[in-house]
Amino acid sequence: MAIIGAGIAGAAAAHRLHAAGRRVVVFDKSRGPGGRMATRRGPDGLRFDHGAQFFTARDPRFAARVEDWTARGVAAPWGGPHRHAGTPGMSAPARDLLAGIDLRCGRAVGRLVRDGEAWRLQEADGTALAEGTAFSTVFLTCPSPQSLALLAGAGRDLPGVGDVRYAPCWTLMLAHDGPPPFDGPVREDRDPDAVFAWIARDDTKPGRDGGTLVAHAAPAWSRANLEEPADRIAERLVAALKTLVPVGTVRHAAAHRWRYAQVERAVGADCLFAPETGLGFAGDGCLGPRVELAYLSGLALAERVIDGGAP
Ligand SMILES: Cc1cc2nc3c(=O)[nH]c(=O)nc-3n(C[C@H](O)[C@H](O)[C@H](O)COP(=O)(O)OP(=O)(O)OC[C@H]3O[C@@H](n4cnc5c(N)ncnc54)[C@H](O)[C@@H]3O)c2cc1C
Repeated sequence: MAIIGAGIAGAAAAHRLHAAGRRVVVFDKSRGPGGRMATRRGPDGLRFDHGAQFFTARDPRFAARVEDWTARGVAAPWGGPHRHAGTPGMSAPARDLLAGIDLRCGRAVGRLVRDGEAWRLQEADGTALAEGTAFSTVFLTCPSPQSLALLAGAGRDLPGVGDVRYAPCWTLMLAHDGPPPFDGPVREDRDPDAVFAWIARDDTKPGRDGGTLVAHAAPAWSRANLEEPADRIAERLVAALKTLVPVGTVRHAAAHRWRYAQVERAVGADCLFAPETGLGFAGDGCLGPRVELAYLSGLALAERVIDGGAP
C-alpha cells in the first residue's frame, strides 16, 4: 500500500497498517515527516514550531496515544489545560508513529497511473517512484486541493474531497533579546479583525530556548495579504507585534505562508474510500481542523481497509 503524505494522518494510517502486518510505503514531498506539525530551523540553531502549536486529546484512542508519547518523552503538556506539544519539536509524534516504516521523504507524488488493478506512482515529470512496485491501495492524506489534483490527473473522483475549505495563515517567527514580552506561554485573540490570533513564547515549550516567538496572523488578515512577499509580511507583522507587546532587539524575523492551514469546512465523514479503485482520502479535511481529528481520520481509513479485507 502507498500513503501519500507523512503528516499525522498519514503517519497514523501507516502505523495502524504496519501493526496489522501490511506492507506500507509512505511518500512525502518535504524533507521530513510531520506535515503541518512542523519545525523550521533559523540561523544560529534557532528552531520554531511554525505550524500546529499544540494538540488536545478528547477521544480515548488518541488520549491513550498521547499518554504513551508523554511517558516516552515524545510529547509533553504545554500551553494550557489539556494541551500538549511534541518534544523536542512538533514533528516528534509523526516521527514516532513512522518508526520502522518505509518512509521516503523528498518525494513529491505528481501522478497516479493505473496499471491493471493497481497504481504506479510517478513524480510530476513522469519519473517512477518505487520503481517496479504497483500498489493495490493508495491513501491520499495531503490537503484536499493537492489530493484533488492527483485524483484529476488519474481521471478519478472521490466525492467529498472537493468540498473541503481551508483558512490560510501567515506565521511570524521571531527571535529577540529581551525579557519575556508577556506572562505565560500564550496570548490568544479571538477577535476576527485582530492582526494576530495567536502569539506563543515558543521557547517555553519543553526542550526549547532562544527567546523565540511564533505568532499566527488571523485568518481574515492572512487571506487579505496572502499574495504579499514573505519579507514584506515579516516587516509588517513585526511592526504589528511591537504595538501589542514589548519586544527586545530583533535577532531574526521571517514569515511563512500556510496556504492550507486550518480546515473551515470538512467532509464530515471520518475518511473516504473507494474499494473499486483502492483510493482513499484522510486527514483534517475529513473531520475538522485539529491534529487529533487528522489522526483519527488516518486511523479510520486504515481500519476501513483492514476490516474490508483489501490487500
Ligand atoms: C499555522 C497552523 C496552526 C495550527 N494550529 C493547530 C493547533 O494549535 N492545534 C491543532 O490541533 N491543530 C492545529 N493546526 C492544524 C493541524 O496542524 C492539522 O489539522 C494537522 O496537522 C493536519 O494533518 P494532516 O496529516 O491531515 O495534513 P498535513 O500535516 O498537511 O500532512 C500532509 C502531508 O502531505 C505532504 N504532501 C502534500 N502533497 C504531496 C505530494 N504531492 N506528494 C507527497 N507528499 C505530499 C505534505 O508535505 C504533508 O507532509 C494548525 C495548522 C497550521 C498550519
